[in-house]
Amino acid sequence: MGATKQVSPGIWRLRLEAKGRLVVNAWLWRRGERNILIDTGFPQTTDQLIANIEATDLRLSDITDVFYTHTHNDHMGGGVVLKDEWAPNTRHYAFAGSGEALEDYFTFWEARRGTAGSLNSLLPDTERWRSMLAEIKSIPPAPLRVAGDGTIPNLTRVEVGATVRCGEASLRCVDARGHDPVHVAWLDVDGRRLFSGDVILRVPTPILLHMRDELFTWLDTLDRWQKSLAVDLLLPGHGMPTALFQQSIDRSRAFWQSLYTLTSEELEAGVPVDPLDITFAWLGDDRSRYAARSTVFVANTLTLLVCLQKLGFVTQLPSRHWVATRALPDFSTLRAIAATQGIRG
Ligand SMILES: [Zn+2]
Repeated sequence: MGATKQVSPGIWRLRLEAKGRLVVNAWLWRRGERNILIDTGFPQTTDQLIANIEATDLRLSDITDVFYTHTHNDHMGGGVVLKDEWAPNTRHYAFAGSGEALEDYFTFWEARRGTAGSLNSLLPDTERWRSMLAEIKSIPPAPLRVAGDGTIPNLTRVEVGATVRCGEASLRCVDARGHDPVHVAWLDVDGRRLFSGDVILRVPTPILLHMRDELFTWLDTLDRWQKSLAVDLLLPGHGMPTALFQQSIDRSRAFWQSLYTLTSEELEAGVPVDPLDITFAWLGDDRSRYAARSTVFVANTLTLLVCLQKLGFVTQLPSRHWVATRALPDFSTLRAIAATQGIRG
């Protein structure tokens, strides 16, 4: 109930909910004879994907075109495990730069999952962190290799700037790199509606080191979009659509700006810093109360600290607390320094 909703002429939000409470969107765009899907959910939500498509009086085999915004499991994983279920003439489109994800998706993804464990060496060994870790590890990861062979059938690799025509629909491949170094967005050229994946969310956009995300690349994407992209409706990978494109970009940037401000204040106080303290101060009353979600935000704090470490502003003590080694610049100066040193994230 309520998992399928038309949000704009011809466009339905297909809401997919995984165990562990992460909700992701796939978008169905019906235009003339074409039934276009943008993103495909998790491997474990394909039943919901199919049911949601059927709620619009179509079947999976009626989908004519599938577009992927990025390689993360909640966007590309469903499409991969449905390999043998798609109609043989369904066309799939992904960014040409997606690399190994398009060759052997399962191996690619297995190297990236397991957020919590990868954070261990960057956090002090406290009771609080141990209990978060225990809660996360109590939820077994969903099986990945459930069907298919890890490839996407009938795949067209699209370059940034190229426009794909599907009947009357035109989708332009827009550079969206950062949250996933090979992220793109798909712009409905005529309707100025942007299928934006995870670039701009209502929560702080996750930029995770172990996923090889790039903080400074993502910030550049926000700036470029703000200057050069006209969008009337933003259709994000998680949450509801919004017409407030510019304001949403401002808010996404401001989340990270405030994380940076908090981090520099903590470091400049001169006491060794536990990143969990920064993270919980950052999230305030809005913080998600369960560990799996909080961990993503802890990972954001660590992304920032590791960037500062690469730039020579902080170091980690043997206790794994963090301390400043010199005065920290403001956020825009930090970005300029990173740019001159060629550090992307
Ligand atoms: Zn996502």
